[in-house]
Amino acid sequence: MKNIKKILAAVLAGAMLIACAACDAKDKTDSTPAESTASTETASTATADNAVAQAPKYASEGKLVMATNASFPPYEYYEEEKIVGIDAEVAALIAEKLGVELEIKDMEFGSIIGAVQTGSVDIGMAGMTVTEDRLKTIDFTDSYATAVQVVIVKEDSEIASIDDLQGKKIGVQESTTGDIYATDDFGEENVSRYNKGNDAVAALVSGVVDAVIIDNEPAKAFVASASGLKILDSSYADEDYAIAVSKDNKGLTDAVNAALKELKEDGSLDAIIEKYIPSEDK
Ligand code: GLN
Repeated sequence: MKNIKKILAAVLAGAMLIACAACDAKDKTDSTPAESTASTETASTATADNAVAQAPKYASEGKLVMATNASFPPYEYYEEEKIVGIDAEVAALIAEKLGVELEIKDMEFGSIIGAVQTGSVDIGMAGMTVTEDRLKTIDFTDSYATAVQVVIVKEDSEIASIDDLQGKKIGVQESTTGDIYATDDFGEENVSRYNKGNDAVAALVSGVVDAVIIDNEPAKAFVASASGLKILDSSYADEDYAIAVSKDNKGLTDAVNAALKELKEDGSLDAIIEKYIPSEDK
């Protein structure tokens, strides 16, 4: 489907090899009990030291400041003056578990990673896909949702598959994975970038672009609110959404992961996703 998937598969295969190598090493250590005890003690002391050194840092006292781009339904969008959606609700529960207040800052999608990196916000939560490239500059928590990149075209379009996109004008939301993949696969000259996904969809409706590549759930929302559009059956790339945290704030990544784990285990994460994406619509 996508080069990126092949690359990820290769990376995962490599990681598994390393993991297996570690298993072998561990087996060998286990066979010499004295050594094994010594190394366990060293490991737990190191973990305790890390926990102290790595307490969560917050951009502002008593607050978890989250950067998002609130034009991405059903993950984040405005209902009157308020930002609502899956990410806003999950973040509110995480903040509650961390004992801080949630503050949401709306910005362009392309500014979120920089804001996380510089520490002007604590987390970036914006239906953000985990990619190898992004992992070079920020950390991601465990994943809390999966997504698919899809292609929107006009109902009467001659584009019926991903291959038909060659040489066509493709609209994307700037700096998103849709933008990155489309540019890689179909060439810079064929990609038109918009600040909001809905602006790309408007360009499709008015015939400025021939297709839009975007995440499946906002795609459904945009197609439902326009007329004469459809989503192609063949999906373009499978993705995992996670929360971005600064590489200097491991303590916060760990704390958010612990909160996410509880939300997964007690069913509240599923309940929020079901509220915005009812099973019958999936
Ligand atoms: N999932 C896509 C990405 O991470 C799009 C996210 C968004 O537009 N909010 O690039």
